[in-house]
Parts: sequence; C-alpha cells; structure tokens
Amino acid sequence: MKAPRQLHLFVLIDALGWSLIENSSFLREILPHRQGLRTQLGFSSGVIPSILSGLSPGQSGIWNLVYYDPERSPFRWMRRLPFLPYEMLDNRLGRRFMTELGRRALGLGPGFDCCVSPQLLPWFNWGERRNIYEQGGLGATASIFDQLAAEGIPYRAYSYQRATDREILARAATDIERDSARFFFLYLCELDGFLHTHCNDAEMIAGKLAWYEENLQRLFAGALRRDREAKFFLFSDHGMTPVCRHYDLAADIDACGLRMPEDYLAVYDSTMARFWFFSGQARVAINDCLGRVPCGRLLSGDEQRELGVCFSDNRYGEAVLLMEPGTLISSSGFNGAGWKPVGMHGYHPDDPHSDAVFLSNCPPTFPLATVTDIYRYMRESVS
Ligand SMILES: [Zn+2]
Repeated sequence: MKAPRQLHLFVLIDALGWSLIENSSFLREILPHRQGLRTQLGFSSGVIPSILSGLSPGQSGIWNLVYYDPERSPFRWMRRLPFLPYEMLDNRLGRRFMTELGRRALGLGPGFDCCVSPQLLPWFNWGERRNIYEQGGLGATASIFDQLAAEGIPYRAYSYQRATDREILARAATDIERDSARFFFLYLCELDGFLHTHCNDAEMIAGKLAWYEENLQRLFAGALRRDREAKFFLFSDHGMTPVCRHYDLAADIDACGLRMPEDYLAVYDSTMARFWFFSGQARVAINDCLGRVPCGRLLSGDEQRELGVCFSDNRYGEAVLLMEPGTLISSSGFNGAGWKPVGMHGYHPDDPHSDAVFLSNCPPTFPLATVTDIYRYMRESVS
C-alpha cells in the first residue's frame, strides 16, 4: 500500500439498515451510489472485525463475545473456591460486582459484561478486550489499521471508546481540514442503541437520520474544501429487525432436568443460544428439546461453514440455535433486567431487515456483496 492520493473518508454507522434508507433521500445528493450488503451472521462483535480484517469469523476466530475456554478463563481461579456464595452472587448486584471485577481487575476491557451466571464464568473467556479501532485491536488478526501502520500510512480513526457520535463528528471535522492524513475512519455507534428502542417509530427515526445527514454533509463539505476529489464511503455492519415475539428458551432447557456445568453449558444471546455437552444424555436431551423449538432452529455443520462461523474447536458452541427473525430469547443473559428492545439484530443474513448498506460518492470499483467486502474496498483505496 502507499498513501492515498485523495482524501478518503470511511464512516461506519452501526445498525444503519438498507431497509431504513433504501427508498429515502438520506444523503442521496452527495452519495448517489447506494446498495444493500449482506451482513455476517453474529453481533457487532463478529461483524465489525470482519469489516476491519476482510476475514469471516471462522477464518479470524473472532465471533461472539463469550466463548468456552476453561483452560484460559480469566475466572478459572474461582473453581478453587467452591465455598464462594454463588447463590448470593447470581442476582443483579452480584453480576454487577463480577462485571466490575472483570473490567477493572482482570483486564477484560470496558465492554465486559457478566452475562452468564457467575458460577459458570470459570468455563468461559471474553473476546473483545482491546479497542478494535486501534493497532493490535484484533489480536493475532491484522486489521486495516495494522496494515496502514505497518506501511507508514498516516490515518485517523475515531470510536465510541473516546467520544460520543457528536464529539467524533466535531473532532473529525476539525482534523480533516487541518491534519495531513488522507485516510479517515469514523465509527458511529449511537444509532444502534436508538433503533433497539425506537425502530418502530418512523418519526423519531427520521429525526435521528436527519441529524446524521446534516453532520455528515458538513463533514464532507470540509473534506471537499481540502481536496476537491475527496472520496466518501458510508457503510454499516447490519440492520435492525422489529421484535415481534419473545421466547423463554432457558425454561425449555431447564425442564430437561440437567445440571450446569456438570452436564452441559449454555449461553443465551438475544437471537441465538449456544451449547456444550459433557454427557451423552445431555447431548441427546438438549438436541431433542432444541429440535422442538417452534421459532428457531439448529444450524447444521454445513450451514455454519457456509455462514463463515465454523470453528474446529467448537469454542462458540457444539450446537447453535438461531431464532427466526423478530424472535427474541427472553432469558438472554445479554439483555439486562428491564431492557425491552423493540428491535434486534443477529438473525440469519437472509432476513431483509438485517441487510447493511454501502453508499459512496463515486461508482464502486468492484461489486460488493457482503460486509466483508468493505475491507478490500478500504485496502484497495490506498493501493
Ligand atoms: Zn445492537
């Protein structure tokens, strides 16, 4: 790679779905080239690393935040303390305490959340410890930022770990006009939280999008003042699907009468549940139970391979149940008590609401189909 001749502005808006802007005028005047992109199965913890590295989760090993890893679990020391009062810890305050312990004392990063029963933490590890928008953020996997740094290409990257969307847009606007870098990357995360709560409110969404539109127009105007040939690419990681049903999957599994961690382990995300088995009886009983779930289905090995989420060590689950679009697992450890999202993502990429976007001010130099293609786009823009 060499430093790009023109100024390149890459903006990632979390959860900006194609269905939201396909027929709207959102930034159409300055970004006339627009299309939907197929997302990657998973949550932002898996999708964004794919955008930054060009690799599927199966290739990079980076997918969901929680994975089975009893040997290297940051909480494995708890197994030697069987007298810990787990009953007292397994409530909102106890989980809060474990979350703080993980974040502050065990180096798991500000995003760590105790999303399984504290008693089960010693069997799991946590994926996103570093700021993925910094060098080395993806661990052993090279991101676009590692490559830019290795080749001495100046760039600026902005993310929520340092600022709000408003601050990021203001900072970038100043830097674009003063800084000598020609590669700018902005990650704006706040639309995601907004849509989780308001994805059914067209008026509020229109207001929010108008705010982004105005700020991005201003940002691009500044870029054009510095370079009349500046290029602007706006994309997202996934869309947002309206929630229409809740399903208490853990209640079904609990009814099997098996024990964790002796017989099996389960992690309940919002849209998928993952299982590990330690006895033949548990494997049969749970698979039978999952086969009867009315609004979700087990992903076959072939399908996992096809979706880029096949892992030889099964760290993300020996069995993965994916809910139908719009169905939320109500027993999810990731949805804190009292949080009732009306929108969710992390469904099958065939779900039209899940499509991400790619918008640009110049015709794409090659056809893009999935969010993983964005990486190649960024890379080729500086070669
Ligand atoms: Zn989200």
